[in-house]
Amino acid sequence: MTSSPQAQRLHSSYHAPDQERAFANKLMEMLAVPTFVLDADCRVIIWNRACEKLTGVPAREMLGTHDHWRSFYDSPQPTLADLLIQNRTDEIVHLYPHSSRDPLTGSALCAESWCDMPRCGKRRYLAADASPIFNDDGELAAVVQTLRDMTEEKAAQNALEQLATRDGLTGLANRRCFDDTLRAEWARAMRQHQPLSLLMVDVDNFKAFNDANGHLGGDECLKRIAGAVAHEMRANDLVARYGGEEFAVILPNQALKGAAIVAERIRCRIEQLQVPHGSGSKHVTVSIGAATAFAATDTDPSQLVATADAALYRAKHMGRNRISLPATEAV
Ligand code: GH3
Ligand code: MG
Ligand code: MG
Repeated sequence: MTSSPQAQRLHSSYHAPDQERAFANKLMEMLAVPTFVLDADCRVIIWNRACEKLTGVPAREMLGTHDHWRSFYDSPQPTLADLLIQNRTDEIVHLYPHSSRDPLTGSALCAESWCDMPRCGKRRYLAADASPIFNDDGELAAVVQTLRDMTEEKAAQNALEQLATRDGLTGLANRRCFDDTLRAEWARAMRQHQPLSLLMVDVDNFKAFNDANGHLGGDECLKRIAGAVAHEMRANDLVARYGGEEFAVILPNQALKGAAIVAERIRCRIEQLQVPHGSGSKHVTVSIGAATAFAATDTDPSQLVATADAALYRAKHMGRNRISLPATEAV
């Protein structure tokens, strides 16, 4: 392979090995990309200025040590470079879930992760690339790791995800997130032959509440109800704002009996908030319709919503502030 004129010029003016090494070190030093290099014993041999700036740790503290992890983490954790040197790349999926091998080289590793950055005092989301350097005998001589600070991009991405999946008023999952989750949970329940329950929760006489307390008062009330419903949930449940003054609760792996218990707990909790209604009823209450999907009978998730809606309609019809199950009397 012929080298470029620029490389040839560099080569002719830096032919002595010491000069070449000094030049390479200078190059690394001045590189705008935060970079560090470990030798085959995982000792730091280069810690460039951009890396000093990113980590807040001067090169003089790092060079010749195995302490580089301290610049990134509160407790010991191998960097990508360590994993490459120690031939522990199979551990990468556990330590760095957002990682991959560079498809071009096959040997370089890439990963994105949150780092504690103890010396900066501020967590940073870093993208790292680690590439092995082999000597003329094909032995691993060093690994160079470059870093990119992606904290701002990650924050923007999180904000977008938040906008796309959360309801602005209550902070609960929005309708779109509900639809996606219901579809996924429904498919899982059918596949694993597990029950899946759904609750539709609707605030009673909320139009009258708004008329008596104003729209802003109504908004405050919805926030309190949202918090109360969310309080009754387990880790795998999802509570969403289905629309207006209606909430939906997805209860994976929950049969109708369990769903009825959760529904009654939610109804009670909201009654106990004792939010003055200001018109007609004394306090704000909710009505709840429940439904459960079973693999043998149901064909799609919208049927589950329709069944829970029908139960909710019955609860309203029977006087509100109650729960109702499919094809049974209101409880
Ligand atoms: P029911 O007991 O039958 O459910 O009666 P309701 O008055 O609650 O039901 P209806 O559907 O007649 O009225 C719902 C009201 O909820 C009307 C609407 O103005 C109010 N609403 C919907 N979304 C919001 C919101 O985001 N903020 C406020 N303040 N009110 C809302
Ligand atoms: Mg209502
Ligand atoms: Mg409604």
